[in-house]
Formats: sequence, structure tokens, C-alpha cells
Amino acid sequence: MTSIHILDDITVDKIAAGEVVERPASVIKELVENSIDAHADKIEVEILAGGTSFIRVTDNGDGMDNPNARLAILRHATSKIKQVDDLMSIDTLGFRGEALPSIAAVSRFNLITRRPQDDLGTTIKLTGGRIDEIEDMGCNIGTTIKVEDLFFNVPARKKFLKTTTTEANKINDFIIKLALSKPNIAFKLINNNKIAITTPGNGSLYDAIECIYGTKVSEELLPIEAITDDIKVTGFISKPAIIRSSRSWQTFVINGRVVNSRIISKAIDNAYHSLLPKSGYPFVILNIEVNKRTIDINVHPQKAEIKFEDESLLFKTIYHAVLEAVKPSDNQALSDFAIPVTDKALHIEKTVPEQINMDLSENMPSTSANSFKQNSINYT
Ligand code: ADP
Ligand code: MG
Repeated sequence: MTSIHILDDITVDKIAAGEVVERPASVIKELVENSIDAHADKIEVEILAGGTSFIRVTDNGDGMDNPNARLAILRHATSKIKQVDDLMSIDTLGFRGEALPSIAAVSRFNLITRRPQDDLGTTIKLTGGRIDEIEDMGCNIGTTIKVEDLFFNVPARKKFLKTTTTEANKINDFIIKLALSKPNIAFKLINNNKIAITTPGNGSLYDAIECIYGTKVSEELLPIEAITDDIKVTGFISKPAIIRSSRSWQTFVINGRVVNSRIISKAIDNAYHSLLPKSGYPFVILNIEVNKRTIDINVHPQKAEIKFEDESLLFKTIYHAVLEAVKPSDNQALSDFAIPVTDKALHIEKTVPEQINMDLSENMPSTSANSFKQNSINYT
């Protein structure tokens, strides 16, 4: 019989990375969520080659002192919970204490961090989970994490990655969702040296939408609002002039977390399509607030899903909120409301705008046909 042995820490971290770190976009999710938890109001993400060769996330948040920076890269090291009951009242996005060690185990990893009250910061470099160097270092307030050569030591995982364009698109889509979930944070995504996304961080969801998708989308939005004792739903939904053939324009935020939810998707579909033609999916951003005790946030390794105590209440509230937003007012006929399609391009997925040189399309994030135009006006 083979003998049983305890796995060493690096092997354990590499295995855990399989759950948390699926692809470059999941690295970025973890790092940006850490920046949000550290109270940053400016977060900049830079990627090269779809994040496979280079990822950098820089924030202006709380930073860490030297002893905490050393702890942060250890497994199950977290400042966010002390016991499992804390999950019921948690305000942070993270709580597992797994992300940094998991990412460090499968990359060349560099953490640079400084607290506002310290003169010197700390840099820690690791290769495949092994510490190469820990030093004091002059640096900006906040935290920068660089992740290079993701999966260089896990070739099996590397094989599953898609093309760098596809990986970049996934990152782009996710940063958009995070940016919409936190309109009070200024986000910037730089993809292969070009600015792909920026948001102003002025607290206005509408302004964030406009910056990301352009005025063509923002001008066609209807506000959503439903407030009851148990649940509060706010956000925007597009008129039928702006629809897509996939759900990639739909962002659901529950208690500050971007999540996927079939129930919410279904409630929107049912309400929207009860009044409007059945083809396509509207642009939607829903901000849902519920009592923390009525959800379980710890049901998915990447926290992409949440379990609800009362799914039917959620469904009903969203269904009615969408219906209320979309249904024509009393003195308006539905035919007035269902405005004719003026811009066919908005109905086609992944259009390449005429103004952009074709050589940019390689780097152009999937959902930013409009944002790119918008950004080039604002930032170049
Ligand atoms: P978790 O987020 O679940 O606590 P992580 O492995 O993602 O676990 O991070 C470990 C700890 O490192 C966090 O609890 C936090 O204290 C610290 N940390 C990570 N990223 C940052 C950051 N950008 N700024 C400040 N502290 C950070
Ligand atoms: Mg975290």
C-alpha cells in the first residue's frame, strides 16, 4: 500500500491555484478586489498579451507594512475575517486568504506596497511560490502587484488558455463590470500600451456607463428603481434600440459584489420580453442590496455566485422593477416607446467602428466598440 504524506506548501498552493486562478482575468479579479477592499479610489490595470505575459494592478489604497506584506503571501492569511461567523456580516469582497499565495504559486510575482504613515515601502518577489527577495523600497502610497509569465510552471493549465485577444476581452469585460459596480472608484485599463477603459470615479453610475459605452448607449437608458423593506434594486436598462445577441452587457451587483445569477437573468428576460420583441438582450446594470444574513457568499471558489435565502422574492422584485422601468407611461403608446432601430450597428455584436484603424482591432476589447471611440476623444 502506498503511504500517506502531507503535501508541502508550494504544492498545496499550486493545487489551490487551480480553483482560484483559472485564467488571467481571474488573477485580475482577485487583485482588483483586494484593491477595492483596501479602500483605493484609483485602480489602474495594465496587461500585455492578454495578461499571460504581464499583469500589473496599482492602487492608491491602504498599503501594508513590512510584517503584513510578508503575511499577505501566506496561505489562509487574511485581514478580513477571524472566524466563519464573520462571513454573515462581511463588507469586504475577499475573505479566503487564498488569492495572493495562489497567484504567486503559478507566476513570477512582485508585491510593492507602502502605507501612508510609513516612509519606506516593501517589495517582495517570488518565483513559483518561492520567495526570492524581501526588501525595503521607496515607492508610492498604496500597492502594486505585478504578475508575469502566468502558469509558466503549470504547462497543463497554460494549454487551456485561449488566444491573447480572447483573454484580453475577458479581462476587459470584467473590468467593465467591476467599474460599474464601483462608480466611486476611478478605473483605468491599459491593454498593450493603449487605454481601453477609464471611468471618472465621481460616484455617478450614469457617468461611468457613458465613459465605458459612449453616449449612444447612455442616451438610451431607462432608470430602474424598486425599494422594499427586504430588497433595494436600482440601475439602468436599455430601450430596445440598444440590444445585444448575448448577455455580455448585463451586470448584476449584489451588496457590492459582481455576480452571475440565472434567476436575475430570467427575471429580466421575462419582464423585458413580455413587452418587447423577443430577440436579443438589453443592456442592464442592476445594483441589488439585500440583508447580508439572507445570502451566502461562500458557495463558489471565485465567489462568482451567491446563494439566496428567498429566490422567489428576488425574482419577483426584479421582474416588477424591470417591468415598471420598461413599460410605457399611461399617455404613451407602446409603439412610441419601442422606438425604431436607428443604429443597426448597435444590434450587432463586436462591431468594429469605422473610425478605428483595423490594426487596433486585435487589441480592441470586445465590448468597447463605443468606449474606444469615447476614450480616444477623452484621453488621446
Ligand atoms: P483575502 O483578500 O481573502 O483576505 P488575499 O490573499 O487576496 O486574501 O490577500 C491577503 C491579505 O493581503 C488581505 O487580507 C489584505 O490584508 C492584504 N492585501 C492584499 N492586497 C492588498 C492591497 N492591494 N492593498 C492592501 N492590502 C492588501
Ligand atoms: Mg483577496
